[in-house]
Amino acid sequence: MNGLWQRAADRLRDELGQVGFETWIGPLNFVGIQGRTATVEAPNRFFRDWVNERYLGLLRKSLSAEAGETIDVRLTLGENGMTAPQAPRPTNGKPHAPIAPVSPITSPRLDRHPQLNPRYTFAEFVVGSGNQFAHAAALAVANQPGEKYNPLFIYGGVGLGKTHLVNAIGHHIYGSGDRPRKVLFMPAEIFMNELISSLRRDRMNEFRDKFRRVDALILDDVQFLAGRERTQEEFFHTFYSLHADRHQIVLTSDKVPREIPELEERLRNRFESGLIADIAPPDLETRVAIVQKKAVLENLRLAPDVSLYIAQSVQSNVRELEGCLTRLAALASLNKSAITVDFAKQALHDLIRNHEAKPDVEMIQKTVAEFFHIRLADLKSKKRTQHIAFCRQVAMYLCRKLTSSSFPVIGEAFGRDHSTVIHAFNLIQRRVTNDSAFRLSIEKIERELKAIRANAA
Ligand code: ADP
Ligand code: MG
Repeated sequence: MNGLWQRAADRLRDELGQVGFETWIGPLNFVGIQGRTATVEAPNRFFRDWVNERYLGLLRKSLSAEAGETIDVRLTLGENGMTAPQAPRPTNGKPHAPIAPVSPITSPRLDRHPQLNPRYTFAEFVVGSGNQFAHAAALAVANQPGEKYNPLFIYGGVGLGKTHLVNAIGHHIYGSGDRPRKVLFMPAEIFMNELISSLRRDRMNEFRDKFRRVDALILDDVQFLAGRERTQEEFFHTFYSLHADRHQIVLTSDKVPREIPELEERLRNRFESGLIADIAPPDLETRVAIVQKKAVLENLRLAPDVSLYIAQSVQSNVRELEGCLTRLAALASLNKSAITVDFAKQALHDLIRNHEAKPDVEMIQKTVAEFFHIRLADLKSKKRTQHIAFCRQVAMYLCRKLTSSSFPVIGEAFGRDHSTVIHAFNLIQRRVTNDSAFRLSIEKIERELKAIRANAA
């Protein structure tokens, strides 16, 4: 049966291209066929709606072509996964309509919003495989605030465009109605500061009013609420009242809700109750496109080989890509010289060298131990409890994938022989291929490793 799905998937890949395929079809899980109906699982409600709208016909077509008879497709929701399944929100007994195709957003109205960054619009956001899903989710929410996916929770590593994307949502909600709608954008830390100062000055009623009267509340970097009990409590009530009135809530974080430490359970449940979308680091094509777009915005002439050079050199962080451009622009104007690849190499030498450093085995061991909350000593020990053995396998896998160390050298670092490492590598690799939720966790660790290196640089 799986062979049929594989072959149908190959057809889809040809039709959709690699990016489209990986974004929309890769995460689907083929459950099986009964009679002439194939059951395919989507990781969440948004995904299901989106695939239903756009790709169901194509799915049917490819499966039927491969099976040699008409196959119908039933899309269901997956039960588990890092992207939590989306509990249907009570909607006065009405069933959810499938998501309407969203039109790309043109220019929002010109009146400026006081807190939103005017540069962070949809028009200036480059869409690629790593952010396609989050972008589509953001568009959907911007077009139908409060109606479909509430809250929208966007997470991903540093400098990957979370703040940009949620600002874009804000601009659109603010500027696209018949009247300006009330949009409040705020970093979670400021929310906390305002709360503290309102408490101190005995102004809690004002504080509550301010937050509960908005049409959309965008809270950036909610991981900063970790461990702040009073703030979480207040935010829970704010959340509750906005949600009940069907006002849109948009949240960003560097982690999925369940990985935010010291987050109250009821708040975590709320965060997971809407749509969760992640942003992964951009691939090379997307980085080139971003460099070119930013160059145009800065009135900088860049030859294609220079954009490619920059995009190849900075891999994990869009903010750093921008940093390189700014530096180039500054130096080129100082030196009055043309920007060639050689000029770029010279100018960016010290900025870029650091990114080429690979993580080492030790750093991976430490990061994996921290990620799974086990002790480093246990990771390296002979202990065989299931959880520790599993963490060790993940660490071995990452060592092989991310460093140039051989299997025997990695084995040594764990006090094991090379065959154990090979076994671990194959095991984890298989799981990464077959289990998209698991893959997300692994990618998360890789992102953390990248962030550590970037900070060390
Ligand atoms: P985060 O909030 O995830 O740390 P930001 O939203 O602050 O990241 O993005 C960092 C910088 O990179 C911003 O200047 C933003 O405009 C830019 N950026 C990130 N992703 C993109 C993208 N896909 N297209 C255009 N610019 C981007
Ligand atoms: Mg941010």
